[in-house]
Amino acid sequence: MGKRKSRAKPAPKKRMDKLDTVFSCPFCNHGTGVECRLDMKNLIGEASCRICQESFSTVVTALTEAIDIYSEWIDECERVNNLEDDDGDQDEGFMPRKRVSTCDWD
Ligand SMILES: [Zn+2]
Repeated sequence: MGKRKSRAKPAPKKRMDKLDTVFSCPFCNHGTGVECRLDMKNLIGEASCRICQESFSTVVTALTEAIDIYSEWIDECERVNNLEDDDGDQDEGFMPRKRVSTCDWD
């Protein structure tokens, strides 16, 4: 009977390039709904939710990571939300701040 070569297992390959590409969806709040893809040929990054089908795409560079696309999407969502929230309150952003002295010059 021949001995089986089972002693030396090959070291598991470490995949350093495998970063998080799955995120929670800002629309349906599904924890792993959003998947980001980078199309390096066309320099397009796309994030899309497989649950609610929302998607976002943006221009990427060689340095862009999936998380960058995702955070850009979140920023975009917040921007849109802020626009929608702004219904008639025109003096927002123009509020004279009361100056309160927080330090005494003693
Ligand atoms: Zn979703």
